[in-house]
Amino acid sequence: MLPQAAHAVNPWVALAYLAAGVCFIFALRGLSSPATSRKGNRYGMAGMLIAVVTTLVTHDIASLLEIVIAIAIGGGIGFVIARKIAMTDMPQLVAAFHSLVGMAAVLVGWAAYLNPAAFDILIDGVISPVSRVEMGLGIAIGAITFSGSVIAFLKLAGKMSGAPIMLPGRHVINLGTLAAILALTVYFTADQSIWIIAVITVLAFVIGFLLIIPIGGADMPVVVSMLNSYSGWAAAAMGFTLHNTAMIITGALVGASGAILSYIMCRAMNRSFVSVIAGGFGADGGGDAGDGAAKVDRPWKRGSAEDAAFLMKEAGQVIIIPGYGMAVAQAQHVLREMGDLLKEAGVTVKYAIHPVAGRMPGHMNVLLAEANVPYDEVFELEDINGEFSQTDVAFVIGANDVVNPAARTDKSSPIYGMPVFDVEKAKTIFFIKRSMGGVGYSGVDNDVFYMDQTMMLLSDAKKMVEQINKALAE
Ligand code: NDP
Repeated sequence: MLPQAAHAVNPWVALAYLAAGVCFIFALRGLSSPATSRKGNRYGMAGMLIAVVTTLVTHDIASLLEIVIAIAIGGGIGFVIARKIAMTDMPQLVAAFHSLVGMAAVLVGWAAYLNPAAFDILIDGVISPVSRVEMGLGIAIGAITFSGSVIAFLKLAGKMSGAPIMLPGRHVINLGTLAAILALTVYFTADQSIWIIAVITVLAFVIGFLLIIPIGGADMPVVVSMLNSYSGWAAAAMGFTLHNTAMIITGALVGASGAILSYIMCRAMNRSFVSVIAGGFGADGGGDAGDGAAKVDRPWKRGSAEDAAFLMKEAGQVIIIPGYGMAVAQAQHVLREMGDLLKEAGVTVKYAIHPVAGRMPGHMNVLLAEANVPYDEVFELEDINGEFSQTDVAFVIGANDVVNPAARTDKSSPIYGMPVFDVEKAKTIFFIKRSMGGVGYSGVDNDVFYMDQTMMLLSDAKKMVEQINKALAE
């Protein structure tokens, strides 16, 4: 491999990386709205192509064949997973992919430590102090991202309880471990012994684990976006080690946009940003998940597809609130058809999207866009919540936590403080779910089921909406 520093001064390489960076900025800009997201994706692909081609043609690659084989294996696995994965499993897949970015940062850091000459980071036969700091931080951020993402994967995939695990004295342990990592990184600038970098790696793996286990189920959306941010910073750290400006820019963009997304998610959940990034720091340990069962002994009313079709056709305005169950049932297409039928009957139809509905940020927006729901019918929580009192029908399809008034009233609830839709202000509520026993992600019962104006439509969401459409068409 050529000395990297030589490439850094090549103006054409710098220009190409700059062009890639600009493409990534346009990509993020495009991805900020469903209407422009396809364009954003294309910018992202173009930027990545420029960055990869520039890296390949300007580096003296030892064996291009090896690189092609590695790309073919990785690309092949990614292709198969992308084709097979169910939309409902996307959050855990994203967490799993973040863990790979973290592990890559750790491996790059270790490769640079073990073979510093190849990375052009030697000064007078020893690793330059600046490179040692980059290496220490890169490995630490990468290891935190790896173990944190593995825990997030296990929680999201249901292979580990989503309930927060609160270790006694966890704040002291977390702060102590973080302080030890920073102190060792500073010490590493004076002494490049292998034990220091090994201890930094182990402590960072441990802290990643400790930061995520206290985070409860309902706060997982923030964790997903936070790990996204960490994976960006891990990539930026790799960029420093590899002296690759494109990686530094891309990593910083991912890190910063992930941090902004985490902040937005925290606001949506009414949680303190600092408390979440510090691993539940400041949380009182209360708000554990519920007992996992609805209180079925309370009276509730069962409705039918015909009831729903009749009342919605007569309505002036219907607000549809989709949630995770719509994704499970893949009911978005039949739901759009229902919206079309109601509009034909002169009903105003609006879709209300909660920022944490589903299992990943933007989950509902993606599904509704896939079903070609017009963007101007889709509203965010704060823009539509005031309208329920003038709405005839609130149609809750597979949502639960995001319409649970316990978030407003029950201090012991794990979702307490999260802003929710005021569906109970609508004249009639239709609530689609499969059974009265099933609960939402946070595992708590929902008073809306038992309200006078609520009719439960107990069925798979897709089947129920198909029946409603049939009744509407008749
Ligand atoms: P919930 O998880 O609260 O509720 C889902 C509802 O869908 C349940 O009532 C379930 O009841 C019903 N359901 C499941 N499958 C079907 C089906 N096939 N047909 C009909 N109904 C079905 O979903 P929400 O979207 O309201 O809330 C999201 C929750 O997930 C929040 O607590 C959020 O914090 C959390 N979360 C969000 C993430 C994100 O980034 N958006 C990431 C991780 C967690 P039943 O079983 O009886 O059918």
